[in-house]
Amino acid sequence: MLELRNINTFYGKIHILHDLSLRVEQGEIISLIGANGAGKSTTLMSICGIVPPRSGQIFFKGQPIEQLAPNKIVALGISQVPEGRHIFPALSVAENLELGAFLRHDKGQIQQDLEHCYTLFPILAERRRQPGGNLSGGEQQMLAISRALMARPQLLLLDEPSMGLAPLITKQIFEIIRKINQEENTTIFLVEQNANVALKIATRGYVLENGRIILHDKAENLLNNKDIQKAYLGI
Ligand code: ATP
Repeated sequence: MLELRNINTFYGKIHILHDLSLRVEQGEIISLIGANGAGKSTTLMSICGIVPPRSGQIFFKGQPIEQLAPNKIVALGISQVPEGRHIFPALSVAENLELGAFLRHDKGQIQQDLEHCYTLFPILAERRRQPGGNLSGGEQQMLAISRALMARPQLLLLDEPSMGLAPLITKQIFEIIRKINQEENTTIFLVEQNANVALKIATRGYVLENGRIILHDKAENLLNNKDIQKAYLGI
């Protein structure tokens, strides 16, 4: 579904991603793990067209997308849940969700999808008229995920969904991510510092260090890998 082929991404003169290659097959949950500053968010920004790679290629369902503007990439079926959620605090929960469907014109279906988000996250239904900024961190993460789903993505990119959340809330969020993958046939590409939760949910994982992929394996092999346990799992 998604292939990054030898991408190199820069911020000005600073070279962040070095010949980064990875693949995400349809239906998978792929986790990209790595320490603070490894380049995980930059990888997502490159896929979304916000920080396009200076060289290399990105294919979505066989089509090159590395030259496309972010709105075109969303329209093709890729949505991102950004690090720190970035919900619109002054807008209501319902308005935040409607903005997720900004590029769509199928009004009836949008309404159905809105109701579907409320079924996935009943707390959002209870709070639908409240400003997004009044929600707790976990609820804002639910809102950010739902807003991304309102674009009807085939591929959902998640940037550190566990950030700043209590373990119990993280568990709930990851259960929903699994549900979105299994029941809605949405492929998931997840970046996380919390390697433990990210690998437990994933089919395969990639390890990023200083902008380079240093290891790639089935998630269960990474979880049992002594070096990974020591460096990323605190074991
Ligand atoms: P974190 O887990 O802290 O979010 P990350 O793995 O997602 O880290 P990135 O946010 O991709 O890492 O950052 C990779 C490197 O790029 C870091 O050294 C960071 O300081 C640098 N960087 C990120 N954004 C910019 C920017 N807008 N301008 C310059 N350098 C940046």
